[in-house]
Amino acid sequence: MTQERMPKQLNYQNIYEIFSRFREHEAEPKGELDHVNAFTLVVAVALSAQSTDLGVNKATKKLFAIADTPEKMIALGLNGVMEHIKTIGLYRQKAKNVIKMSKLLIEKYNSVVPSSRAALEGLPGVGRKTANVVLNMWFGQPTQAVDTHILRFGNRSGVAIGKDVVAVERAIEDHVPAEFQHHAHHWMILHGRYTCKARKPVCMNCIIEDLCQFEEKIIE
Ligand code: SF4
Repeated sequence: MTQERMPKQLNYQNIYEIFSRFREHEAEPKGELDHVNAFTLVVAVALSAQSTDLGVNKATKKLFAIADTPEKMIALGLNGVMEHIKTIGLYRQKAKNVIKMSKLLIEKYNSVVPSSRAALEGLPGVGRKTANVVLNMWFGQPTQAVDTHILRFGNRSGVAIGKDVVAVERAIEDHVPAEFQHHAHHWMILHGRYTCKARKPVCMNCIIEDLCQFEEKIIE
């Protein structure tokens, strides 16, 4: 993506129009990571680092059926967790973090997932992006979890220009109108994943093609 020529930041009217179209297309966009409660959401998001949602969902289907609380995760034990998630990259380290996170949740938070950024980021295996996803999806906060799809889409389209995830997170907060902030994360991630793809963006089917500033659109 760094080789691509980046456009300038779009103005307010165009960004408003882009998100109006996203809303019209899908009023209540949803994340694609399976979970059954706040705890399993935190675990799923933490496991998804450098892995696909599909791969994580396959692994967690059986795991969450038997361990959907910190207590049950501890009872399953490190080897049991590893066995369930061994198809996911970095699974050994991720399994260790899941066990440590479960212990901390029991000891410090009475087994309830905390709702503050600082407390979430204090959990083993939980970084800024995971905290942002959990704050957005579970606690309904207008946080922006920027991943590779949003980084790419934001820069190509001109919706949120920035050279790294933190800069794009700030650009989204600064430029996306308040009424769209809550769902912005999912609209952009889904658009980046399925339409504004890394190697071959599907510009001819893109609902914001006329507004997008990307100079190397693929329209054929
Ligand atoms: S027109 Fe192409 S480059 Fe622009 S947002 Fe749509 S898919 Fe991405």
